[in-house]
Amino acid sequence: MTRLLILTLLICIGYSLWTFVRRSLGGQRPPKEPQVPPRRTSSLRGEDLVQDPQCGTYVPRTEALETQIDGRRHYFCSPRCRDAFREKK
Ligand SMILES: [Zn+2]
Repeated sequence: MTRLLILTLLICIGYSLWTFVRRSLGGQRPPKEPQVPPRRTSSLRGEDLVQDPQCGTYVPRTEALETQIDGRRHYFCSPRCRDAFREKK
């Protein structure tokens, strides 16, 4: 009798575990792709996007702050990012 009780309990636990696993698997969303430039808006406006090396933001080339640092050209979203990037160097 005790053995039957334990068996029932085990089945119960196993079943709830299985539903838990199924639910957590089903609720999982595909991982977001990191730092994808908003191509749709850029192609609409016909603008190139450049990445701010300081904060990682994509800025239209025409609106970006173009700066030469150590002979290399960098684009920034704001003077604050440019200064922070310069200080980091
Ligand atoms: Zn920035």
